[in-house]
Amino acid sequence: MARTNTRQKREFREQMKALWRAENRPCARDGQPIDWDAPANTRDAFELGHILPVKTHPHLELDPNNVQPEHHRCNRHAGASTSTAASTGITSEVW
Ligand SMILES: [Zn+2]
Repeated sequence: MARTNTRQKREFREQMKALWRAENRPCARDGQPIDWDAPANTRDAFELGHILPVKTHPHLELDPNNVQPEHHRCNRHAGASTSTAASTGITSEVW
């Protein structure tokens, strides 16, 4: 099991949020204002978005140049594309 420093991640996220909040930065995906006080995991709430996905670029997860402010709803939408192609393997065993 890889050791994921969740505390470090949370602190990074809070740092970036505070920075963007001070600048009142809009969502990077739709350009709409973010509700900085919205409870986490609600549609208009802030979400830390990654320009290059962490999945493929794990070393850039805490890189300030690889993150952008996003709405929770926009972030969710982007991540929804991870559809594990259900391989309907038609195993035709012809002997
Ligand atoms: Zn958005």
